[in-house]
Amino acid sequence: MRPKINCKNCLSDEVLFREQVFENGTRHLRAECKSCGKFIQYVEQEISYEEAASFKMPFGKHQGKTIEQIGLQDPDYLAWAAVILKPGNVKRRIKVFQDGMPEHVSEVIPRVFDEIASKQMDFEA
Ligand SMILES: [Zn+2]
Repeated sequence: MRPKINCKNCLSDEVLFREQVFENGTRHLRAECKSCGKFIQYVEQEISYEEAASFKMPFGKHQGKTIEQIGLQDPDYLAWAAVILKPGNVKRRIKVFQDGMPEHVSEVIPRVFDEIASKQMDFEA
């Protein structure tokens, strides 16, 4: 599915998409205006479960491990990261992984979410 975008330069909606893979493994569509040729923006493509699971954490104490490895070794961390991270590449992949998570991992994570939710309630009280 491709998003509707217009060229900010000439307002044309004739957009050309080219696939581009970034160094961190994310796949994007590079949108260019067909009329004036200007670069418009990068649009990230859909992320598959496999892609999300094999994505390597670019930072933090589990840097270099895949999201799947972290989900198995330290699910608390993954659940915590999914809550506190700003919207972006990493958060999106954690969400995709969690949505399609194998059962042995998902048994642990909802419990952690409940704990986080109850801690947040404590703050509000
Ligand atoms: Zn244009």
